[in-house]
Amino acid sequence: MKVEVDQDACIGCGLCIDTAPNVFAWNDESKSYVIVDVVPKDDEPAAKESVESCPTEAIHYKD
Ligand code: SF4
Repeated sequence: MKVEVDQDACIGCGLCIDTAPNVFAWNDESKSYVIVDVVPKDDEPAAKESVESCPTEAIHYKD
C-alpha cells in the first residue's frame, strides 16, 4: 500500500502525523508528506485512518 499527500490540498492540521507518525512527517512548508515508499504492514490501519480522517481529503492511495 502506498499513499501520497496532495500538497495543494493539505492545510497542515497535523492529524495524519499524529495518527501515523511512521508514515507522515512535517516538511519545510509545515505541511505533511509521506516518508515511506511503501507503508509498513503494521502502519496500514493508521494510514487508512489518516486517509479517511484528513479534513481536506488530501491523502490519496497510490498504485
Ligand atoms: S490530515 Fe490532511 S490536512 Fe492535515 S496535515 Fe495530514 S494531509 Fe494535511
